[in-house]
Amino acid sequence: MSHSIPATLIAGDGIGPEIMDATLAVLDALQAPFSWDAQVAGLGGVKSAGDPLPPATLDSIRRTRLALKGPLETPSGGGYRSSNVRLREEFKLFANMRPARTMIPGGRFDNIDLLVFRENVEGLYMGYEHYIPIEDDPHAVAIATGVNTRQGSRHILDYAFRTAIALGRKKMTVVHKANIMKALTGIFLETAYQMHKEKYADRIALDDVIVDACCMKLVTNPWQFDALVTTNLFGDILSDLTAGLVGGLGMAPGANIGQDAAIFEAVHGSAPDIAGRGIANPTALMLAAALMLDHVAEHDKAQRLRAAISDTLNKDQVRTGDLGGSASTEAFTKAVIARL
Ligand code: NAD
Repeated sequence: MSHSIPATLIAGDGIGPEIMDATLAVLDALQAPFSWDAQVAGLGGVKSAGDPLPPATLDSIRRTRLALKGPLETPSGGGYRSSNVRLREEFKLFANMRPARTMIPGGRFDNIDLLVFRENVEGLYMGYEHYIPIEDDPHAVAIATGVNTRQGSRHILDYAFRTAIALGRKKMTVVHKANIMKALTGIFLETAYQMHKEKYADRIALDDVIVDACCMKLVTNPWQFDALVTTNLFGDILSDLTAGLVGGLGMAPGANIGQDAAIFEAVHGSAPDIAGRGIANPTALMLAAALMLDHVAEHDKAQRLRAAISDTLNKDQVRTGDLGGSASTEAFTKAVIARL
């Protein structure tokens, strides 16, 4: 190994440790150049350090500026705030890129190759929420405030245009709901057209679609889209939809990119329903590791990893249960390593 790149490792909750072991085994086989600093967060952080985002974990990422992260559990309703959201805020990870590419041909939707860019730190995810009590009901009224800024919109839009162009994309589609949320999502739409005109009109086409129509179009004719860019909540929902087009959450990786740090993860959560059973599909996290290799300019290793996963799924027909196969996480991982 010619050089070593320090990186923070968070195995995560639920199926996290299982799919992270699988991913590390594959990265070892590839002789990936990372030297890992293992840390905890989420429920694991609460259990071992009494904190869903312990200071040691934050210090580690401040130092390495690079992390591979398993899914972190967040309690619904009450309880602590999402460690994922806090990590994005802490390191100003303003861009979330979630590619959806068909790896197993012959499914309901073939030849999908979409890029979803999601604004990652603003919008309705800021957690400005409160209740107004009326009489004896403490939760009589619920209020949430979304915040989108011109500067925040410019950050993600600029990243999305630049990245899409670099990856050879021909068209960007802004997804919004500016007919109803005229200010909150209107600012994003308006900024997209401004920026496109100023900087990118000669290199990529731009159009826009309302989020509800976008959902319908994605399931009737997803091939009409090339790259999508949208605000936080819409991006979260749409990227699960596009994951569904390519075989489900087990196949969808994500990159959280900021000025000073980058965190790579699977789109899916901790899958508590199958945790500890050794049957989770590690592909999404492995593909996230491939994005991380691309990020540190190890494109050859990234490509080898993607090819080995594709050959395992298609030539060897080794697949986990979510893809209709019967392979365990371990058997799938061994098959990928054999391909490497
Ligand atoms: P989930 O993504 O964990 O699971 C949804 C469904 O997909 C489940 O049936 C699960 O078994 C299946 N699934 C997910 N990943 C799979 C895989 N790799 N292989 C096979 N099947 C898989 O969503 P959820 O159940 O709504 O959320 C569980 C927890 O995860 C919650 O606490 C949530 O807050 C958290 N979460 C974390 C992240 C993250 O860390 N980035 C993202 C989403 C949800």
